[in-house]
This record gives sequence, structure tokens and C-alpha cells, in this order.
Amino acid sequence: MKGTTNSTMRAVVFDDHLRFDKAYPQPKRQSRWARICVHLAGVCNTDLEIIKGYMGFKGVPGHEFIGVVDQCDDPTWIGARVAGEINAACGRCRWCADGLMRHCPNRTVLGILQHHGCFADYVFLPVENLQRIPDDIPAERAVFIEPLSAACEILEQLDLQGDETAIVLGDGKLGILCAWVLSTVLADVTLKGHHAQKLASAQWRHIKTIRNADTMAGQADIVVEATGSAKGINEALSLCRPRGVIVLKSTVASVDEINLAPLVINEQTLIGSRCGQFKDGLQMMETYPDMPLERLITARFPIEQALLGFEQAALPDSLKILLEF
Ligand SMILES: [Zn+2]
Ligand SMILES: [Zn+2]
Repeated sequence: MKGTTNSTMRAVVFDDHLRFDKAYPQPKRQSRWARICVHLAGVCNTDLEIIKGYMGFKGVPGHEFIGVVDQCDDPTWIGARVAGEINAACGRCRWCADGLMRHCPNRTVLGILQHHGCFADYVFLPVENLQRIPDDIPAERAVFIEPLSAACEILEQLDLQGDETAIVLGDGKLGILCAWVLSTVLADVTLKGHHAQKLASAQWRHIKTIRNADTMAGQADIVVEATGSAKGINEALSLCRPRGVIVLKSTVASVDEINLAPLVINEQTLIGSRCGQFKDGLQMMETYPDMPLERLITARFPIEQALLGFEQAALPDSLKILLEF
């Protein structure tokens, strides 16, 4: 973490446990970085993993937010309503030179790796990470730009023709967003999950929802694994057709429970997929104003009650929990 000043801020902090701090030291703003006053933030499954020890992170978690720039060397940003891409790159390495800042080996990641996150009054990011959000997109929609962009990354990675069949595994927020994004280009998209209520929330366009996919074994051209559990990948391997593509969205996959023999036998392609570009998420929001993002909001909590919000976020029926400032 970078140095701190005497100023403080309200913040949710994870050190050895999760707590709310009403006077946490504010990080010092670096040159060419902006200070953003956070208005609304979203609790993500990654945050729930972090408070279980994922990435060994200590500090202020949170990486999904919308806010307004209030300090910046470049005055054209002051007052801008923004969201921010979460990978802060070095700008000097080979990956950065190729425009792949998301893969910079020297990067910090907002609220995940060596970088205080957005569950605080202020969040700090390099100016190049900022994405202006038009005034006509309500904060309740704009706050989904990070996970929606991550879902859009699939369209970036696959060259889809439109006639492929796709199955998305997992009826959590990310699984639903992946199904929605795929349904904008594919005619045949099925979402498989366990929770009747979440599957009902996922209904949009022509998406089919199912709780059992046994009859579809070996048929899907594309399987997106977004269950957040190691077992999901085995199911993905069995649902994917020979020479089909499996897109892995869960970061928690543990190796010992996975049998990769079907991958070899069926010559399937396995693709890892993480963050997307915010310009793609924003474009998706603007092109499909009827995409029912607000439906994914389970509850909103003031920042002082963030711990209650985290508790609710961990319940099986919860989708997105928002924190208000
Ligand atoms: Zn997230
Ligand atoms: Zn770099």
C-alpha cells in the first residue's frame, strides 16, 4: 500500500477480520492518479473470497463502484462521473506496450492486490483507468459495469457466428450476466443453475433456464463455467461437444477435483477469461437499455452497515448487494 496522509475516511477494512472503520487513513494520491468520491459500490463474490483469505489481501476491499472525481492533476476530470478499471498497470513493460495492461505483471488490482479498494469514501486510480459514465445511466445500472465488462470479455475472446449453442453453468451474478451478454449474439443460450428465484431473475430475451442438463451432454458448442466451484469444470467438460470451447470464469477451481481426460479425448479448447474493458460493458449497457441489471440487486446497505451487507451477500439466495455512501 502507498503512504497515507493525516486525512481519514470511512472504510470497510479487512485485516485479520472484516470491520467498519469510521476514520481510516486516506491513501495519498499519486501524480497522474485521481481521487474519486465513491457514491455506490457493489459487493462481488471476489470480495467474499477475500475475507476468507483469497490473495492474502489486507486493506480496503471492493472493486465495483461509481463515483465522482474530486482530485486530479488534469482539471478536465474534476467533477466527472466515473467507474474505474481495476488493474493499475506499470505502463513500462512489454504487456503494457501491447495494450494488455490487464496482464501487466507489475500491476496492482483494486481491492484485490496491493491496492486499497472502493468500500471507502474515496478510491484512488490512475487517470487512464477511468471510464466516464453518461448522466442518463442511473448509478444502479452503472455499478454493474465491472462484472458486465467481464462477461463481455467472452465476446472478445471467441469469434462467434451466431448459430452456436451455449450453456452457462451457474446462476450467480456473473453467470447471469454471461448468459445475457451471449444472448445478444447467439440464438440458443441456456443457463443452468440451482436456485428457482435466481433463474427467474435471469429470464431475458430468449434465454432458457434449466436445473438439470444431463440430457444435453456432449452437445454444446460453448460452455461457460461460472459456478464458482471446482466441480463446475467437470460438468462443463461433459456438456461440451467434441472440439467445442469451454470458457472458465470461476477463479476458485482447485486442481485435485478436476479430471482433464475428457478435454484430451474430445479435443476441447479451454479458455480462461477474467476482466473485460469497460468501454465494452458501457456499450452493452447503452445498446441494451432493457437489460434488467437492476433485477440483480438484492439489497442496499449504508456503508456503516457494510458488515450486514457482507453477511447478506453470502446467503445462497442473494445476488448483488450494494453499499451506499
Ligand atoms: Zn467483481
Ligand atoms: Zn506493465
